[in-house]
Amino acid sequence: MDEFALIERFFRRTPRRPQTRLGIGDDCALLRLPADRVLAVTMDTLVAGVHFFPDVDPEALGHKVLAVNLSDLAAVGAEPVWGFLALTLPRVDTDWLERFAGGLFELAGRYRVDLAGGDTTRGPLTVTLQASGWVPERQALKRSGARPGDGIYLSGWLGDAGLGLKMLQGEVTWRDPDTVARLLRPEPRVELGLALRGLAHACIDVSDGLAADLHHLLNASGVGGTIEWEALPLSPAMRRYLTEGGDWRLPLQAGEDYELCFTMPPWREADLERRLPSGGVAWHRIGTIEKQDGLRITKGEKVTALPAVGYRHF
Ligand SMILES: [Mg+2]
Repeated sequence: MDEFALIERFFRRTPRRPQTRLGIGDDCALLRLPADRVLAVTMDTLVAGVHFFPDVDPEALGHKVLAVNLSDLAAVGAEPVWGFLALTLPRVDTDWLERFAGGLFELAGRYRVDLAGGDTTRGPLTVTLQASGWVPERQALKRSGARPGDGIYLSGWLGDAGLGLKMLQGEVTWRDPDTVARLLRPEPRVELGLALRGLAHACIDVSDGLAADLHHLLNASGVGGTIEWEALPLSPAMRRYLTEGGDWRLPLQAGEDYELCFTMPPWREADLERRLPSGGVAWHRIGTIEKQDGLRITKGEKVTALPAVGYRHF
């Protein structure tokens, strides 16, 4: 199967958005942006053996490569609209491609994301996706707006993806399917990102671990903060891991949760509750932004400095 037949068979779909003037099939895509919006663009690469096990379920991989990008768009409050996929494959395996495309388009369909172009090459299995979307310029969320007195908030459970990895690696000897799924099939917090427009002062998605990513937010904002151990949202599986003597730093330092960490004045909590449909993602206040720089954690009476340790790319 040549490149064109492969794209035609697995990746060309009728665009859902009228703004996709020209999608897959020409030298470039032609895309229209609504007049009052700016384009938000992000890109992520997943490499076999580095970011995923080479024998990973291709359906989960297709989901994840889009999900991690939608998470970045959510972090700036953008509505996802387009994706561009660069696929490097050791060989053409039609069953693998079918399932990969199935996972990708299931998530794309949920948010009406048009796959508008890409590239395929032969080589070690690597998947790169560039996603873009739009947001009213003044409502875009950044890392830099946190102010002293803001609450620090976090969606979902903390550290479950890292615990799921330990389960797959056999470092944790029991398995919990939900926890493993949090690693293999993360859910991007798109609705939360949209709801945070005009409410949050700062936002980041937690990809490298809470400690590392919250440091990025604090540094960008020129502030510090304290989080409370007792306020951290820990899943039943994480509590079991900790009760059985697991490392308490895991939830703070493990990457790949793809939850949103944001700051806003606490009196805005009621507004956020009103904007989010019930049954959607949970979010919790975990701490407070302060003038004094650095990140601290309180555990009982004790206050400890929390270093920016997390997932290291190099
Ligand atoms: Mg990010």
